[in-house]
Amino acid sequence: MVEMSGHIMDNLEAVRARIAAVCTQAGRPLESVRLLAVSKTYGPEAVQTVAAAGQVIFGENRVQEAAAKIPACPGHLQWHLIGHLQRNKAALAARLFDWVHSVDSLKLLEALDRHAGEAGRRLEVLVQVNVSGERAKSGLAPNEVLAVLARSNELTNVQVRGLMTIPPLTEDPEKARPHFRALRDYRDQWAAELGMDLDELSMGMTHDLEVAIAEGATVVRVGTGIFGQRVYPAKGTDPA
Ligand SMILES: *Cc1c(COP(=O)(O)O)cnc(C)c1O
Repeated sequence: MVEMSGHIMDNLEAVRARIAAVCTQAGRPLESVRLLAVSKTYGPEAVQTVAAAGQVIFGENRVQEAAAKIPACPGHLQWHLIGHLQRNKAALAARLFDWVHSVDSLKLLEALDRHAGEAGRRLEVLVQVNVSGERAKSGLAPNEVLAVLARSNELTNVQVRGLMTIPPLTEDPEKARPHFRALRDYRDQWAAELGMDLDELSMGMTHDLEVAIAEGATVVRVGTGIFGQRVYPAKGTDPA
């Protein structure tokens, strides 16, 4: 246990150093990039270890797992949902999370707005864009996004803060660059077209965070780089 937390602390330091190095290189202020610690599959002890080092924002990809974990973690932490959200879990998600990065339909956005209102909360959200057009990926096609952004201006309990994308998995981080750049270009275009602030770009993970930051990421989502390789439960043991 002690050994494991030592490991996590070293990992966290290394990730922070990578972010600082690329910010310097790209001429960006360090405060312009936030590190989201993706704690999926890891328990409250690991979260506590990272929180003790000053990390405040954490990401989860499944509502059910988060519902069990968040109440067991320090209360001052801020939780971001980064995985696909089914509409029947929107009510629970609206109560558990502060941010949702994975809004991929107008109906989901409206459901989150309604449930956040009922819970007396306000949610910060990002619209997930399927930049690459890969069929298996979640996210809205670029030509569907404008309508969702326009509608969001009429909703009072959710605020769209920007965009999120997950590029196709590749060994070479450079291959992700065109996808990151495309997301930023779309953002610039849509923000101008609608007169909206879409300041946040959630893009980049452990293996490609440098490229993402160079292309304008404001939130990088890092799991294995901090917590280590994930061990998933065997398929079929967890319905969530
Ligand atoms: C798991 C996950 C991450 C973190 O990936 P790592 O490669 O472990 O850094 C980032 N974003 C999403 C959407 C994820 O599901």
